[in-house]
Amino acid sequence: MYDTAAFEANFRAIDPYVAGEQPDFPDMIKLNTNESPYPPAPGVIEAAKAFDSKNLRLYPSTDASKLRKAIAAYHGTDPSEVYVGVGSDDVLSIIFQSCFNSGIPILFPEITYSFYPVWAQLYGIKYRTIPLKDDYTIEKSDYTGTENGGIVIANPNAPTSIAMPLSDIEEIVDANRDRIVVIDEAYVDFGGESALPLLGKYKNLIVVRTFSKSRSLAGLRIGYAIASARIIAAMETVKDCINSYPMNRTAIEIGTASLADEAYFREKIDAIVNTRRVLNEGIVRLGFTVLPSSANFVFATHPGMKAADISAELRKKHIFVRHFNKPLIDNFLRITVGTDEQIAILLKELDKIIR
Ligand code: PMP
Repeated sequence: MYDTAAFEANFRAIDPYVAGEQPDFPDMIKLNTNESPYPPAPGVIEAAKAFDSKNLRLYPSTDASKLRKAIAAYHGTDPSEVYVGVGSDDVLSIIFQSCFNSGIPILFPEITYSFYPVWAQLYGIKYRTIPLKDDYTIEKSDYTGTENGGIVIANPNAPTSIAMPLSDIEEIVDANRDRIVVIDEAYVDFGGESALPLLGKYKNLIVVRTFSKSRSLAGLRIGYAIASARIIAAMETVKDCINSYPMNRTAIEIGTASLADEAYFREKIDAIVNTRRVLNEGIVRLGFTVLPSSANFVFATHPGMKAADISAELRKKHIFVRHFNKPLIDNFLRITVGTDEQIAILLKELDKIIR
């Protein structure tokens, strides 16, 4: 006899992180997952063309050696202080598994990247979330005088888009020298102050970065962490318990090429920051309240219409923005900065919807 309950008891019951949808309409304007609207650097496209597929018969380097060295050189650090993973999600997941084992709750903001509580639950890590202030900023003193088993802060924070000053980050890192403090800098290139300069001074700091946003490579899946060699070694140990070869050969080759073109990188960031200003001004004119963004997206709410309804109306026009059906933020929309043309169309459609 087949016992359904007994069979189901085999499975892990957990609420997963829900990624933004990946719709596929030829005419769509996709502003829902913070991708870059621009293609990766020309050198990346060349490297993809030049890639020798015959080598795919061979396993890749266990530590993505070529890419790891290139990232280390780019940041002027040693490869032993760099960990490379399959997007920063993979890097953060490894950090949660390797660095939060004290049994004391880790801390992160109540409104932040919603993957953090999922990893904590999956790996059985105790955690406590801390409310933001009324203006959606992080109160640094919440993280300086509280016992904790580690701290995770996205800077700029997501989905609020607000950056925290480096001096506040330093106070938090300094006040927690025997715990690990993770600063997730997925969006830092668009206007935040990086914590990388603090690494020389603090052995308890991990800075996490991604190629997905500012390097236009969300589809390649590359993220990395920079930290003291001791922390990176602990992460490698856990990685080697899960997957010897997380980074594939294409990602290693093509990703390395992306680091070579600083001019293109800066040019596209400047374009996105300019368009962010246009988007900001445009939606403020339509009556939205917008949080001050240092990221490649804005977080906005309208007093006259529900965010869910605005999102549904935009979707009818194949314009996709992100709405989180979650307490405290369910009347906000997160809108990725697209090209000037995309944002002009968005503003025109929003104008019709809001009226
Ligand atoms: N951190 C934050 C704050 C993010 O918003 C994202 C994007 N979902 C990530 C990390 C992960 O990005 P990726 O895995 O593409 O590097």
